Amino acid sequence: MDVTSGPVWIDGQVVDGTDALVHVMNPSLHYGWGAYEGIRFYPSGTPELTGPLVFRLREHIRRLFNSSRALGMRIPYTEQELIRACADLALRSGLSSGYLRPLVFLRAGAMAVAAQLTDVQVAIGCWAWSGYLPDADKGIRVRTSGWVRSGPAQLPPSIKSTGGYINPSLARLEAVRGGDHEAILLNQAGRVAEASAANVFALLDGVLVTPPVEEGILPGITRDALLDLAADLGVPTQQRPLAPAELRMAEEVLLAGTAMELVAVTTLDGLPVGEGTAGPVFTALRAEFDKAISGQLPAHRDWVTDVTGV
Ligand code: PMP
Repeated sequence: MDVTSGPVWIDGQVVDGTDALVHVMNPSLHYGWGAYEGIRFYPSGTPELTGPLVFRLREHIRRLFNSSRALGMRIPYTEQELIRACADLALRSGLSSGYLRPLVFLRAGAMAVAAQLTDVQVAIGCWAWSGYLPDADKGIRVRTSGWVRSGPAQLPPSIKSTGGYINPSLARLEAVRGGDHEAILLNQAGRVAEASAANVFALLDGVLVTPPVEEGILPGITRDALLDLAADLGVPTQQRPLAPAELRMAEEVLLAGTAMELVAVTTLDGLPVGEGTAGPVFTALRAEFDKAISGQLPAHRDWVTDVTGV
């Protein structure tokens, strides 16, 4: 099942992906006025839950509402309705693991910048998306981008808007064209912000450091989970501004996001990070993350939603 052929929930109905069409004169397509989320579901790893299990569904839907509100779009459903729609769609897809993509956008009809914000549509896609980056388990090559992350007074990174992705996409394009897998963008002050679709962590003298929200990042839901999991494993964490030079000195650098999950950066700007292989903190966190997403951590059972029980 690819991105276009899976079932799509649109305006309250589930249709075949090939029938989920919008008009080309849709203003969201022209001006990038939309909000979206990326959500993953996984097989259950415990007999107590049937599965599939959606990871942090409530938090993703809450962020979708927040992003939409910030763009002046009122979603014509409740959070609970969209939670149920996501769970239903995952179940109907028949996939044991996959990706859900809720999108809030404007209905075609008027065409002007920031016009007709009241006519809002919601669609949710579902497909199998195993590896966002090929061979990511061996570690990835990342470069620091020449593109600067848009700031709070331009396109706030905390709003997950469709148009907001042009900025990190330019950085990723530059990295991929140059033979790397991913880009890290700096903020306007020249400090580390985030990757094109993931948050950044650096292990510095045994402390797992990640930039705080004020540094101009999307407050990632995976990032939030990792801060908890690191604490559970006894790895100290710190949210503080991070200089690009610190990334070069780090024992380990990790990227975390829903699509990418958790990956080790083994090469940064052409130089090896640490030993140039995935390090022990990455390996321990990845194992704990795998337990969390499959419902095997009783302390974090509330992170997973069993699609059979919604
Ligand atoms: N930053 C950006 C720019 C992203 O696109 C993403 C992916 N949504 C993240 C961080 C990580 O967020 P999350 O863990 O909630 O997927």
